[in-house]
Amino acid sequence: MIGGGAPVPIQSMTNTDTRDAWATAGQIQALAAAGCDIVRVAVPDMEAARALGEIKRMRGLPPIVADIHFDYRLAIAAMEAGADKIRINPGNIGGRDNVKAVVECAKGRGVPIRVGVNAGSLERDLMEKHGGPTAGAAAESALRNIAMLEDLGFGDIVVSIKMSDIRANYEAHMIAAAATRHPFHIGVTESGYGPGGAAKSAVGIGALLMAGIGDTIRVSLTGDPVNEVRLAAEILKSLDLRDGAAHIVSCPTCGRCRVDLESLARRVESGAHGLEKLAKGRAGQGKAGSITIAVMGCVVNGPGEASNADIGVACGDGKGAIFRDGAVVKTVDEKDIAEELLRGAEEIWLERLGRAL
Ligand code: SF4
Repeated sequence: MIGGGAPVPIQSMTNTDTRDAWATAGQIQALAAAGCDIVRVAVPDMEAARALGEIKRMRGLPPIVADIHFDYRLAIAAMEAGADKIRINPGNIGGRDNVKAVVECAKGRGVPIRVGVNAGSLERDLMEKHGGPTAGAAAESALRNIAMLEDLGFGDIVVSIKMSDIRANYEAHMIAAAATRHPFHIGVTESGYGPGGAAKSAVGIGALLMAGIGDTIRVSLTGDPVNEVRLAAEILKSLDLRDGAAHIVSCPTCGRCRVDLESLARRVESGAHGLEKLAKGRAGQGKAGSITIAVMGCVVNGPGEASNADIGVACGDGKGAIFRDGAVVKTVDEKDIAEELLRGAEEIWLERLGRAL
């Protein structure tokens, strides 16, 4: 489910050769295990469309979106192969008749269409009208393509506008979102590699989500797409948009800190991923909620943050005061802090879930 107030699904895209069905299915599984809800695969030719059919026959995979450019027959073949959604740019598949053929097939099979507009491939007339690949040009392209599908009686649409300039990307979404009620798939395209790409994605996607725009997200990073999923999950978690999240509050440390807070925070963080899985498993189809664990270096800000969290520690010299419900419940040696926090967090979370179930 995308839009209509549903939780925001995380998307990513395989970078295997789709024609290699086993390799692609393996990567889809890895993405799903990392928390990806919907996976897109490129379908550049008929062999890839056939491989998509093989992949769709495998069990236990998340919904798969076929990414199509230029050839409308590939869109039809992908739907016949079982694609759960297709992503097309109606402007580049050869005119209204071809779009109509795709729409008729999608209607018959109940397949939604993502209208994907990219700043790198805008229509020439819009580039001329707007003086280049501007926010206005991208928004107008999206709206024009939506109108083309709606004129053909098709409304099961997700909209995406991707620009690598995050200010222009933001502006384009503002223009388009004011003019359509269809759900938005958001992201910052070609955002790059490593920390730079991560920062650009987080700012670009985060700004839109905070403005109330974005029904599904995709982080685009050069490299292993599993990293995209991890970052997407963190973006959603930071805005409290991901159910079943363990939030870690930890200080940057300074000259007052008398414990190895970095390794402590790392241990808590990795244990928290296990807690998230446990809570989601226990919640089943229901809501898992969230928990906040504070890992603080000293008594300056430690007691305040630890009290505000569900469970937390304010460290001293080689030890830590454990807080629960705003009060110190015990003091433990540094080596025992991570375990104490995780055990306590598990207890609190499962108790809450027990009450909710
Ligand atoms: S909580 Fe203490 S150790 Fe951590 S940054 Fe603040 S003053 Fe420094």
